[in-house]
Order: sequence, then C-alpha cells, then structure tokens
Amino acid sequence: MGERFWGDVPPATPVSPEQAVALVRSAFGVDGPARPLGSNQETNLRIDAGDVSYVLKVANPAFGHDVLYLQNAAMRHLAAAGLRVPEPVVAPDGSDVVVTDIGGSPHHVRLLTYVAGDLLSDAEHLAAPVLDRFGRLVARVAAGLADFDHPAADRPLQYDTRRAAEVVDALAPSVADVSRRTKVLSVSDTAWAALAPLAHDLRTQVVHADLADYNVVAGRDGDGRPVPDGIIDFGDVMRSWLVADLATAIVSLLARPRSRPVQDARAVAAGFHGELPLTHAEVAALWPLVVARATVLAVSVDDILAADPDNAYAREEQPLDWRILDRVADVPPELAEEALRSALGVRVSDRILAAAGWRPEADVVDLDHDPVRVDLSVRTDLLADGAWTDPAAARSSVAGALAGRTGVLPHDEGRLTEVVVDSAEETPTVALGTTLLAPVGTPVRAPSDGTIRAGADGSVVLACGVVDVVVRGVRATVAAGAEVVPGQVLGAIDEAAEDSPLPPHVNVQVVRAPGVLPPPYVEPSLADAWVALCPDPVSLLGLFPDLDVGDDARGVLARRDRVVATVQEHYYARPPQIERGWRQHLVDTRGRAYLDIVNNVAVLGHSHPAVTAAATRQLRLLNTNSRFHYDALVRFGERITELLPDPLDTVFFVNSGSEAVDLALRLVRTATGRRDVVCLRGGYHGWTTAADEVSTTLNDNPRALETRPPWVHLAPMPNVYRGEHRGPDAAERYAAELSSVVAGIEGGPAGFIAEPMSGNAGGVLVPPGYLPAVYGTVRAAGGLCISDEVQVGYGRTGSHFWGFEEHGIVPDVVTMAKAAGSGHPVGFVVTRREVAEAFTAEGSFFSSVGGSPVSSVVGLAVLDTIRDEDLQGNALRVGGHLHERLRALVDEHPLVGTVHGEGLYLGVELVRDRSTLKPAIAEALAICERLLELGVITYPTGDFSNVLKVKPPLCITEASADFFVDRLDEVLRAGW
Ligand code: PMP
Repeated sequence: MGERFWGDVPPATPVSPEQAVALVRSAFGVDGPARPLGSNQETNLRIDAGDVSYVLKVANPAFGHDVLYLQNAAMRHLAAAGLRVPEPVVAPDGSDVVVTDIGGSPHHVRLLTYVAGDLLSDAEHLAAPVLDRFGRLVARVAAGLADFDHPAADRPLQYDTRRAAEVVDALAPSVADVSRRTKVLSVSDTAWAALAPLAHDLRTQVVHADLADYNVVAGRDGDGRPVPDGIIDFGDVMRSWLVADLATAIVSLLARPRSRPVQDARAVAAGFHGELPLTHAEVAALWPLVVARATVLAVSVDDILAADPDNAYAREEQPLDWRILDRVADVPPELAEEALRSALGVRVSDRILAAAGWRPEADVVDLDHDPVRVDLSVRTDLLADGAWTDPAAARSSVAGALAGRTGVLPHDEGRLTEVVVDSAEETPTVALGTTLLAPVGTPVRAPSDGTIRAGADGSVVLACGVVDVVVRGVRATVAAGAEVVPGQVLGAIDEAAEDSPLPPHVNVQVVRAPGVLPPPYVEPSLADAWVALCPDPVSLLGLFPDLDVGDDARGVLARRDRVVATVQEHYYARPPQIERGWRQHLVDTRGRAYLDIVNNVAVLGHSHPAVTAAATRQLRLLNTNSRFHYDALVRFGERITELLPDPLDTVFFVNSGSEAVDLALRLVRTATGRRDVVCLRGGYHGWTTAADEVSTTLNDNPRALETRPPWVHLAPMPNVYRGEHRGPDAAERYAAELSSVVAGIEGGPAGFIAEPMSGNAGGVLVPPGYLPAVYGTVRAAGGLCISDEVQVGYGRTGSHFWGFEEHGIVPDVVTMAKAAGSGHPVGFVVTRREVAEAFTAEGSFFSSVGGSPVSSVVGLAVLDTIRDEDLQGNALRVGGHLHERLRALVDEHPLVGTVHGEGLYLGVELVRDRSTLKPAIAEALAICERLLELGVITYPTGDFSNVLKVKPPLCITEASADFFVDRLDEVLRAGW
C-alpha cells in the first residue's frame, strides 16, 4: 500500500533489467536474469539465480531510509519465528541495505528472498477453512512481532488505522460525489464513536499494517484450496493496534462478488482468536476497525484519482473499494459485534446485559385465551403439495387453520412461506419476532412506556430506553414523537399486503440495540446473531410461555451418530437437516432450499401428490401382503409386463434393488442348475449377500477385488474413457475379454449381470455392440442375462424406457427398484415364465411387503405420472440441454475431463491431468461442499469418487438445470 500520507509522492526511480542484473551482481554477488515486478512507490525486480529467486528493491529516494532497516529487522524477526516471509540478503560488506548510484544519485537498495506461491487475492472464493487459516496466519504475525521493536516504528502513515478518522477528514474533499462524501464521513463518525472509548484498551505493538489478501502467499492443499502460509510487502510496518491487522485482513476479502462481510469476518476472526485470543475490547473494536479501514480505502482511492485521473490501477480499484464501504455500512454494527462475540465465544455485550432486565407491562394485542399456534415451519402439515409456493394458497390454509380465532407464529423459525428456490445465496427465511394473527382493526397497544418513532420501512417503533419494540402491520393512530404509556392504543391491525402468505397480522420485535431496525426475516447463517439482538418477544411480552421451535441440525446429527451405524453414511461433513422436498428441490429446517441433482429415486420429484394420494387412500383401505388376493398387485404386474418386450411376462415383487438382484441371481442359478456368475469390475448391484458379492465398486469397498468368492467372475468394465480399450474397436475388445472369462468357467456360467449404462461409475455409457456380443457369448455358453435397471430404467435415459432397449437386446431377467416407487420401497424382477417356473425347485417365494397393496398402487401412480407428465420426454429434452451445457465446461475448465451419460443420467468426471486421467478426488468432494453452500446437492461417485452424480428427479426444469450448470461453472472458475 505504501508510505503515502497526504501530499504528493515522487515517482519511483526507473531501473532496467540490465541495470538490475549489474547492480545485484556488484552489490550482492548474486547472478541471474531480472524482470520487472509491479512497482508502486519503489522499484521491484525479480532476479532468478538458479534455484533461488530474489526481489531487488530500490527505495524511493524521497522516503526516509531508517524504515528500510525497520522492515529488514521485522522480516528477520518473523523468519526466526518460523514464518514464511522475504529475508534480506546480506551483502559482502555485511550490510543488508546497500547505497549505490543510480542515474547519478544515491539510492538505497535491498535484495530479498522471493516468497513463491500464488497470492491469496488470486482466488475469488475462499472456503471457511481457508478463512480460518488466513486468520491464524494473521495472528501468527501479530504473535511473532509481539516482542519486536525498532526506533523507526513510530511513523506517521496514512494507513495507520489509529489515524483513520483524521485521514478520512483530510481526504474526503477529494470525493467528488457528494452523496458518497456525506456517507463516508458519517460512516467514519459512527465507527469512531464506537472506537473512541475502547482505544486505550487496545494492544499496541509493531504490526505489518497491510496484511491484505494481496500480500499473502498461498500454496495449494490436496483438494485444490489455497493454504495461506506466506507474507510479503513489509513496506508499511509500523506501530499500531494489534487488532488493526485483523481488520485489514477482513476488509481485503470484501470486494469479492459473493463475500458476506459478517460471516467472512467471523471466520477469519475465529481463526485469529484460536491462535491468539483477542481481548474483550479488541472484539468490540474489530467491526468499527473494519469499517474504519473501509473508509480509508474509499477516500484514498478517490484522492489518488483526483491527483492522477489516469491512474489505471486506482480506476480499477475505485468501484471495489466503494463496494466494500457500501457492504460494511449496510451492516448494523451491533449485529456484527454480536456475531463476532458468538463466533469467538466471548461474553455478551453490555447492551444485551442492560436490556435483559426490561419487562413489558401490557400485551400488544389481546389474543384469544388459547390462540392457535400456527405452524409455518418447514415441517408444517398446513402447506402440503407445494402450497407454500403460492402465497394465496398459503394464506387460505392459514385462515382455515385459524377458523376465526387468533393465532401466533413463533420467533426464530425457518419459515416455509419465505423459501426461495434456485438461489445461489442464502435468502432471508428465519423469522425474527413473534407474529400475532388477529382480525383487521384489532387494537395494537404499547407494551410499556416509550416514545414513538416511525421505522424506515413503515413500522411503528416504540423506544423504551434499553430496548426498542418494533411493530409491523399496524395502521398507526399515534404520531412520531408521541410519548405513550403501557396499554395505550398505538393503532389497529392493518390489511395484509396482497402478496402476503398470511392473513392480517402484526409482527412484534424487541430489539436490544435501540436504533437498529431488524428485518422481519434474516438469513440463517446470521440468525444466531440477530436473535442475540432480538430476543424472543413471547417470553418478554408474557404472551406464551412455550413456543419452542427446537430445530438443531447439529444436535440431531450428534444423536444420529450415536444411534446409527457409522457405515450407514450421510452426505457432507456438516449436512443440513433436510425436512421437506417438493419437485426437484429440498428444504432444510432453516428454510434454505437446495436443488436436488442426485435423487433418481424420487423420479417424479419429491412429495408428488399422485403418490401421496395413492398411498394415503390405500393405507386407509387395506395394506397386506401378496398371499392375499387383491386387484392392485395384478394391475401393477400387468402394467409392468406391458412395458417390457416379449417374452418377459412374469413378475416377482420385492422392496428394493438389492432384493431384486439377489432374487435374479437365484433365478438364473435355479433355471440353469449352475452357480457361477459373470459381472463387471466396478459394478454395483446392492448390499444383500449375493448382490454384494457381484458388486465391486471400490468407493463402496476398497477391498472388493481381493474378496470375491470363487463363483464370481469379473470382466473388465467397458469404460471407453478410462478403461484399457478406448478406440473404435473397444466394444469388440471388451466383449472378447468377457468371452475369455466365460470360457474359463468350468461347467459354464449360470448368468451375466450388468447395468445397461454403468450407473455407479457415473453414467459411463456402454459402447454400442458390447452388450449384444456379450449376451450372445453368455447364452451360447448356456447362461442367462440379467439387466439391472435399478438406476437407469423408467425413462431416465430419455430415448427409451428401459436401458437395455438402447442396445437392441432383450434380457432374460430384468431387475428394477428405486424409481419404481419414487421413494416408496417398490422393487420387482421380471423374467420369462419358464425361468420363473424353474424356481419352484427352491420352494415358494414370499416377500412380506413386496407387492403390498400400498406398494402396488404407488407403483401404478408412478407409471401413470411418468406417462401423463411425459417425464421420459423431459429427460430427453432437459437431459439433452444439460448434457450440452455440461460439455461446454470441458472446454472451459481443465479439471472437467468429460461428461458421461445421457438423458438425465449424467456424470461429470473430474481429473487432475487429461493425459494421465489422474482422478481429482479431493477436489470433487470440496466442490460438492461449495455447491451445497450455493444451493445445489450433488455428490461424487465412481471407483475414485471423482465423478459428480447428475441424476435429478425427472421433473427438473431447464431453468433449474441451468442453475446447476451456472453454479458448477462458477465454482470451477472462482474456486471452492
Ligand atoms: N442395482 C443397482 C445398479 C444399484 O445402483 C443399486 C443401488 N444403488 C442396487 C441395485 C440396490 O438397490 P437398493 O439400494 O434399492 O437395495
């Protein structure tokens, strides 16, 4: 940032690479080519001397020289403390600052070791663990410099945060835009009003003073995330407040398109605090210092441009610096402070302690004795079948629930009616304050003494001293400025807005930070801080003792971990608690919506009303087992066989894919009187004993290949992307390999099982010609062929209803589950009559709930809906579009090796190197974690877990498909 203080700075002395080479050789005895680096107020050139690189720094002759010694000493000190920083090279004469003649005048020059790596500023997105490490690095610098001092450390610099107010006042006249000038001055005043009383409690020491992301060097973690571990540019080293470096670090993150000032500040501060605990005063001062730093950057850039309108660097910076100022100015400082306090686990602020004793003396609205507790949480029963997406429908459901009575909606609840789908950013869904539902005209009263203010958003604010009470939805009859007494009428409940999902109501908030006007809904990641500022009015207003919302995803996860087997895994290290689904979307308890890109089981979309209606009706009538005689089983069986070619005419009903596969294996064995089965290496067919034995996905079981029983014979997976054969004759070659496997089976195989598209490998297409050849070989050897349609059947591939149809083959046995019940357990096996009859040798077949009346009507509803909503057509259309858009990412991003699959069964394979196809495993998982934050759920699959699953419900729209691709594109570009 440089030593600039108001006043003109003479330009840096130009030094050519040739001059630099000669200078470095003569002054330091180092030999190597030179190239200019970006220079601001001093001249910097990089020197590459064999394996070691250096930076030659020629100081601006206008500046004092003792600071060069200060900088060198600080760098040495930090290097000795183990930090990766530039180190001054000592010249043969023993000095590390050499005075030499350049262009006829003496110049002070230094040679520093070069700190290799990317700048942290190069990464557009920084994940939470990266922010934590950044904070820790900043703390290590502070700790490293704690015992360092130097006579030159006290110097008057523009970027000494202690002087920020002075700098803003001095430079504000350069801000040409009047509204901006007014804003920066007022924001600065507010920050300093908060800082002034804390100033004498802030630790002061030598600090780096420009610990921004552009002065931090980062390596790369295994998952491709930056690891900030080096510091450069000690040009501003000075004595200042220790915590100011942390503020500078935070501010440097805030120009990024998706930065979230408070959340980012929390993450960096938590890292810092974990390494070097902050004092109470420092925690309280941190946000005002963030704001102060932002004001200095904004006025400084305008000042530079006022003096030098052609300064291209400043032109580029200007909108970013002002964006930062706007962003931090939008945050109520009280909120930021509570957010930081809770993240760091330090004591609550005085304002909260002061307000804790406040008690109301009158009710705001006279409610019924026992008002209706209206449930509009994510789990409500009130808004079924997607009614929450339609405000008018929601409103009439709520009115119906009230049935003429008064009602109440709790504070701190994720509100289903506020959910926004396909949003990359969190949206405000958590309700702040209590909402009271009562007829238009119901009087609204003051809960205590106070003065009336008009809230900027039309709310009525009652200032009660240590708290404000904010009431929305009231037609006020008292004027701003009026003093009121407890119980005094403030106005009456107004008509609800036309687009409101609620009937007439008021929302009441109690705010412990007088003057702050909280919004009615806040984003989930800041809800804890908002709730600290706005406690539950219910208990304070004495209305209802018990409206506990009680959603705690982390608590539920800990209980899950205690009660569920660890190997029954869940997605994500910190999974959201998903409690609702609708079409292609899922919603967590706090109201964040996610686009579901993985759920081929919910083929129709989540909570499809056809399934709900069929199951509900049948549950009320009868649910029993297939030993009884009822119509639904017969109709479902007939529908299935109508969808299959001859001679597949006989159905067995089960509940899952694993059971279907297990049964299919028994069928081919009994029909042939043989035991051995051929399957593909890397295929997955289920978890039951036999299904597991023919499954060899390495991501599910890394030891799968070593532990196969003797009856299982593996042939290579015909993967033309990463398998052994990739050319035009791949199908033939793979088929030939399978043929030799078959030939090696003594007595011949009972059968062959494979998916018609390798689903678990990530939608890898089986090359045309392979399956017909293999079916021929197996049948010639007396075996039967099983097509496992569990993943890809039922129209998902778009072009055909069954995966095998695409290959022009007819299997002997078909297995199906997953989509067959759209989430309800429905599975079946279909075969020829004589194969089924041969099974009598094994006795009878019975699956207690397989083909139950409920499963059968659900199965029929699913088939009807796929037909009626043309979901196979949608798979073809939206799948084709999605495939095309994903393919375009291959050209954009080297990490995207290829896109597998067809229809709505696709896979995005990530590789570190396109020639070796080294799988990008850690990256794939980290990318999925980032996509979750951006509102998309997908997960890696394949032997190496490097293929992103793309198999959404078949009702997905083109808009949602685009949302997914846009987010993936963003993550690949901006980082994860
Ligand atoms: N076959 C295939 C191809 C599968 O992908 C799966 C499950 N992923 C199964 C069978 C087993 O199905 P289920 O989980 O319903 O037992």
